[in-house]
Amino acid sequence: MKDIINVLNSIVKDSPDSIAVRHIDDTLSYKELDELSDQLASLIQDSKKPVILYGHMSPFMVVGMIAGIKAGCGYVPIDTSVPNERTAMIIDKTEPEFIFDTSDETFEFKQGKVLTIEGVQNTSTPEVFESHMKPEDVVYTIFTSGSTGEPKGVQIQYTSLIEFAEWMKDLNQLGKGQEWLNQAPFSFDLSVMAIYPCLFTGGTLNLVDKDMIKKPKLLNDMLQKTPINVWVSTPSFIEMCLLLPTLDEKQYPSLKEFFFCGEILPHRTAKALVERFPSATIYNTYGPTEATVAVTSIQITPEILEKYSTLPVGQARPGTTLSTTDEGELIITGNSVSVGYLKNKEKTQEVFSTSEDTRSYRSGDRAKFEDDQWFIQGRIDFQIKMNGYRMELEEIETILRQSSWVREAVVVPIYKNGRVTQLIGAVVPTENVEDSAKLSHEIKSDLKSSLPEYMIPRKFVWMDQLPLTSNGKIDRKKIAEELN
Ligand code: AMP
Repeated sequence: MKDIINVLNSIVKDSPDSIAVRHIDDTLSYKELDELSDQLASLIQDSKKPVILYGHMSPFMVVGMIAGIKAGCGYVPIDTSVPNERTAMIIDKTEPEFIFDTSDETFEFKQGKVLTIEGVQNTSTPEVFESHMKPEDVVYTIFTSGSTGEPKGVQIQYTSLIEFAEWMKDLNQLGKGQEWLNQAPFSFDLSVMAIYPCLFTGGTLNLVDKDMIKKPKLLNDMLQKTPINVWVSTPSFIEMCLLLPTLDEKQYPSLKEFFFCGEILPHRTAKALVERFPSATIYNTYGPTEATVAVTSIQITPEILEKYSTLPVGQARPGTTLSTTDEGELIITGNSVSVGYLKNKEKTQEVFSTSEDTRSYRSGDRAKFEDDQWFIQGRIDFQIKMNGYRMELEEIETILRQSSWVREAVVVPIYKNGRVTQLIGAVVPTENVEDSAKLSHEIKSDLKSSLPEYMIPRKFVWMDQLPLTSNGKIDRKKIAEELN
């Protein structure tokens, strides 16, 4: 098994000045990435807890990741878009000894020693910092939505990450030294799909920030400045980018490979992309954070588009086996599976199991195997994806019920062409509604301190009481049918 640090060392030796990470004009060469991560690793090397990496799309976040590996403590990435209360909850759970703050924000960290970029730059290190991370150590912990209102920290072992990066390297048909695009914030594991396969092959990781996502002109500027070769994003993101008239093979010939993960790749999106980039290689991959980013893949060709109106997610990668329960729930087994949720025995026991040293994860996805391909057919629970973001409706409901304006609440996803386009909160308010807009505003501002923007329902409808099923449970189906 290859070690990420050994691979990086050989790239540093061969091409020290190649750019490893780029965000607009902010770049780090492989040599700088190596030296800075040595400096940070030397500061945190005695830490028994993962280092928190706080920031947005700073190249220094990647310095923090490599330093976390070198120091052997691993890392927990937190994007600055995460609301303060949620950030505090994650830090509380992690109990970090160190926080590497790469942001311009002024978050008040209540525990852990805060290290700054300048502090790291001014640290001297021994010439070569030996990597301390062992294969079975937890390399990163990424927090995802949890139904109880508390995010769950998915812990991934170093060996799982290496196995994943090796698999991606084999899928990547372009080989070494490519320009990669990373769309996902580092607190989502889709970013892992770009970071390590890119660094593993001496490529340049190009970071898309939140302003570029909001303003297509900025994104276009970035794409024009740096001819991207490999694209890693959610299907929702490419859909948005396909609105850019310059994004086709003629005008953007560098772009040769696409990797999608995180949500359904709609047939019409894939078709539009194949028409725009007929000679590119396009992969649909599937996987939950709990199984190291992705565990299946399929290359989307005109033949596949012709054959299937709903696209398959392909076949399992080496080292991972997939099966279904009698109810059709997909079970993922193998080295890709996480060692469990950080300090959350109950949730870990609910979905993870081990048999003869092999770990399995109950995905919550309904799936079928047909034609030698896996197909994902929706969820068995209340987890949804909207614009690539994973969320538990029950988490939003838990937080909603904590608002003093709310007696009871259910959150309903609104579907268009099979995808969630918005959330509506069906709320039984604690008081008579006199001013609907004002009440919506009050509830939304209560939610803002705990939930990320994308989890806040766009609209609310007011009810005297929530309808119940014959066995006395809230009749979500009825509410959903009415609102859809
Ligand atoms: P996350 O942990 O954020 O990566 O979300 C994982 C969930 O996203 C899976 O359990 C699926 O429900 C969904 N998902 C991921 N990739 C795909 C895909 N290619 N097709 C359909 N659903 C997907």
